[in-house]
Amino acid sequence: MELWQKILNSSFRQPAQLAKYFRGIDVASLDRVAETYPMCINPYYLSLVERPDDPIGRQCIPDPEELEASASVPDPLAEESTSPVPCLVHRYPDRALFLVTTRCAMYCRFCTRKRKVGKQDEPITEEMRRDAIAYIARTPEIRDVIVSGGDPLLLPDETLEGLLQSLRAIPHVEMVRIGTRVPCVLPQRVTRKLADMLKKYHPLYMNVHFEHPREVTPQAAKALNRLADAGIPLGNQSVLLKGVNDDPATFVELNRKLLACRVRPYYIYQADPVEGTEHFRTPVDAGLAVVRGLRGHTSGLAVPQYVIDAPGGGGKIPLLPEYVVARDGERVLLRNYKDQYYVYPEVDQTPAVPPLAARCPLSLDPDPDPDPVGRVQA
Ligand code: SF4
Repeated sequence: MELWQKILNSSFRQPAQLAKYFRGIDVASLDRVAETYPMCINPYYLSLVERPDDPIGRQCIPDPEELEASASVPDPLAEESTSPVPCLVHRYPDRALFLVTTRCAMYCRFCTRKRKVGKQDEPITEEMRRDAIAYIARTPEIRDVIVSGGDPLLLPDETLEGLLQSLRAIPHVEMVRIGTRVPCVLPQRVTRKLADMLKKYHPLYMNVHFEHPREVTPQAAKALNRLADAGIPLGNQSVLLKGVNDDPATFVELNRKLLACRVRPYYIYQADPVEGTEHFRTPVDAGLAVVRGLRGHTSGLAVPQYVIDAPGGGGKIPLLPEYVVARDGERVLLRNYKDQYYVYPEVDQTPAVPPLAARCPLSLDPDPDPDPVGRVQA
């Protein structure tokens, strides 16, 4: 058995196992949470936790707030309704999301797929994966496949290689992306053998998932550098989480550390309104403040896109602080990162691509819909 498998097999799955590390834990109430949303914390990730309510502990230790009633829903991104075959989401014409397992090296308490991950009763089978590949093969508009889960790097090397081989054999699939938290939560899994296998399937991209600078440990850095050495372009996707990373300084430090490991910060997601994760949500202003704290204050490479994944399956919508203050057709009044103002001379020319409608017919006042979450019709 390899080291990563031993670490994974020693994972803590019962809140009572945490009691000897953290005094004052209310085991009975955490048990109730873990019955609904499974707990799995491997000893490596647990070693990064100093207190249950610190930015690392909040990500992995169950919290009674997960069971509190809220307006959130299990599947706000409507993945189930855009799934033509089990374990495949086909929302955008040229991209497909292939969910290859429901297992992870740790069950993040804020997970968007909390409805699925770690649930023993709904495993993803070999047959389901075959059906998903058959769908991709008969759908020529799909040119980009995102392999996700759960965590695809929890599959055995041979299973993962079989999937990559099958995808690569489909002529219209131009690229494959793997979404994984393994380099962050179980970096020992990134073995030389795994990296050697992955590099046979280029163009292969990987989006990793770090939330806090304390996660960029020497072990994680080694894993990331090993993947980069295998020629895999690495991006990071973070979720903005209350009490974990909802301040600009945390992201400045995280993104600098990631860039030092050749990982390009790619997205910061506004937390989705997922049932059981309400206590992690932040106001949109917190995300805009993070972008303002990065842009201009650190290198442009360290500034990811801040996006909201629109409820109801509308896709990612980028959000920017208001740098364009006013325009009159001849001039644009701009604000820079120091809150200084500049006038830029506009070009008198009809743009080839028409601009977005200046005025939107919708407003939130009066309320356009009795339940204004998700798509609103104009
Ligand atoms: S590793 Fe990813 S899929 Fe698994 S629980 Fe964490 S966020 Fe969810």
